[in-house]
Amino acid sequence: MQIVFLGTGGSWPSPKRNVAAIAVKRGREIILFDCGEGTQRQFMMSSLSFMQVQKIFITHFHGDHFLGLPGLVQSMTLNDRKEPLRIWGPRGIRDLMEVLLRIGYFSPGFDVYVEEMEDGSEVDFPEYTVTSVKMTHNVPSIGFVLQEKDRPGKFNRERAIELGLPEGPLFGRLQRGETVEHDGMTVAPEMVLGERRAGRKIAYSGDTLPSSSFADAATGSDVLIHDATTDASLEEKQNEFGHSSSRQAAQIARDCGARMLFLTHISPRYDDVSTLEKDARDVFENAHVPNDFDEHLVRYKD
Ligand SMILES: [Zn+2]
Ligand SMILES: [Zn+2]
Repeated sequence: MQIVFLGTGGSWPSPKRNVAAIAVKRGREIILFDCGEGTQRQFMMSSLSFMQVQKIFITHFHGDHFLGLPGLVQSMTLNDRKEPLRIWGPRGIRDLMEVLLRIGYFSPGFDVYVEEMEDGSEVDFPEYTVTSVKMTHNVPSIGFVLQEKDRPGKFNRERAIELGLPEGPLFGRLQRGETVEHDGMTVAPEMVLGERRAGRKIAYSGDTLPSSSFADAATGSDVLIHDATTDASLEEKQNEFGHSSSRQAAQIARDCGARMLFLTHISPRYDDVSTLEKDARDVFENAHVPNDFDEHLVRYKD
């Protein structure tokens, strides 16, 4: 699973950072979290194609998180997309999309399915789930937790040979969790597979004040991506606008036992982000401010 930071800035775009958009490439699909203005162009300058986006999750209706949607859908249409697109967001997203998809002399050339998520609701896909978490911002806002389902345990080749199974397609079927027959013998996958292994977990806060319910939902995340609009010296002021400082983001990372923290939604006032990183690392060592187009490969723990 690869995270590509398409927009790491907050509030309005700057020459250095575009507004919020985080792509997760998983197998052949791209899952997009937030879609600030100009996101389709950020895709073009990244290693990913916007045509591969299948699912979009929007945290809230501040422009820096959703204004890229009409442009993205129009660019997809002009590039002859036929595949449907699915979009989730907080209550109100259906009405909003109704307007955005009809803007100007345009209608999408493919189906766009839009669904509202209540706080705490879960969307269940075959290999992972995405859960929404109520956040604390100055407008209704949700964060998201992407949790992969457990994977089958490691294949014990020696054990399979001991049982008298021939190397070849039967090994593959057992690894995929199928029961196989060989020479009158039935072999269940549990006989040759180790314990199931945990999937990977990514949590994205969107815009928010520090939230203990989000820390709970993000427990044990491999990667936490959190609002860190400013450094600690401007914390009080940012909190009034419903944002966190990098120090507060680091506290959430520490509280939820994340493996790694990415600080995002960086205020356009910063050219140098070293104070943001320092304030965070005083609390949580593995904290980083990504630049637009930075990529991070999320590895399995085992
Ligand atoms: Zn924002
Ligand atoms: Zn906002």
